Amino acid sequence: MSTESDHHHSQSEGNVVCPKCLLSNSASAAFCAACGAPIGMVATIDPIQHIHAEGFAYRAAIDGPPNRIVLIGMWLVFGSMALMGPGVLIGGSGMPLIQVIIFNLVSVCSIVILYRTTRNYIVKTRLADAGHV
Ligand SMILES: [Zn+2]
Repeated sequence: MSTESDHHHSQSEGNVVCPKCLLSNSASAAFCAACGAPIGMVATIDPIQHIHAEGFAYRAAIDGPPNRIVLIGMWLVFGSMALMGPGVLIGGSGMPLIQVIIFNLVSVCSIVILYRTTRNYIVKTRLADAGHV
């Protein structure tokens, strides 16, 4: 029983360079080890990883100054995701229960994120109008 020699090929798949901080991550990494930016294909396929990737965009959106383009982008992304849960409840009668649950969890998260982002935008805009920023 010897498995020590099975690790020799781990470097052959190449690395992925983070587009945000330029750190070289392993090709199988879904997120940058240094800054947490979503990298690689897994971030866009796995629903849980997808939530993490959207969370990164969400944090980027609330960290900056009020930006109407960012807010519109958030509504385009999360608005469609928010409709997925009710969509599978209505149209996905043959879908496994766990998948229906995941889609609805994504919907609830999306609605919460949209609510927070929009409220944040309104508060920041009011502060900017009042001269506090
Ligand atoms: Zn990075």
